[in-house]
Amino acid sequence: MIGMGFDVHRLAEGESLVLGGVTIDSPIGTVAHSDGDVVLHALVDAILGALALGDIGEHFPDTDPRWKGEPSSTFVRHAVQLARTEGYRLGNVDISLVLESPKILPYKQQMREMIAELTELPVNRVSVKATTSERMGYVGRREGVHAWCVCELLPQ
Ligand code: MG
Repeated sequence: MIGMGFDVHRLAEGESLVLGGVTIDSPIGTVAHSDGDVVLHALVDAILGALALGDIGEHFPDTDPRWKGEPSSTFVRHAVQLARTEGYRLGNVDISLVLESPKILPYKQQMREMIAELTELPVNRVSVKATTSERMGYVGRREGVHAWCVCELLPQ
C-alpha cells in the first residue's frame, strides 16, 4: 500500500526549527502547536494515508493541550504502531523538503538516521531530499516551509 503526505508551517523569527527530528541552526523557525516538524508531520500523514486512517489533525488535534510542544516523534511512533496493528510494516520512505534557507545538506544524514529509528527501517530505505523554491512564493520569501512524503507499507 502506498501513502502520501504533505505539511506546511509558517516561519517566524525566534522560533525553533526542527526538521526530521533534528534541530536546525536557524534564526527563523516554525510556528506551531507541536514542534512544527513538517517532515515528520508529512511522514505521519503518508503512513495514515496508506492505511486510509484519516490525517494527523484527526489523531492529534491542535486544540488538545496534550500535544502542545509535543515532539513529533510521538506522532510517528503512533502511526507506525497503527500500521503494525493493521498487519503492515514500512517498506521505504521518500521525503522532499522545500525550504529557502538554511542549507539542509549538513543535517540530511542525521534526519535519515532519526527517521530510520522511528520507522524501524534501515537507513538505506529512508530518503530525505531538499530543495529551495528559487526565491518564489511563500517558501521563497521565507514565510513558510513545506514537505512531501511518500511511503510504502508492506504486509508483515
Ligand atoms: Mg504540521
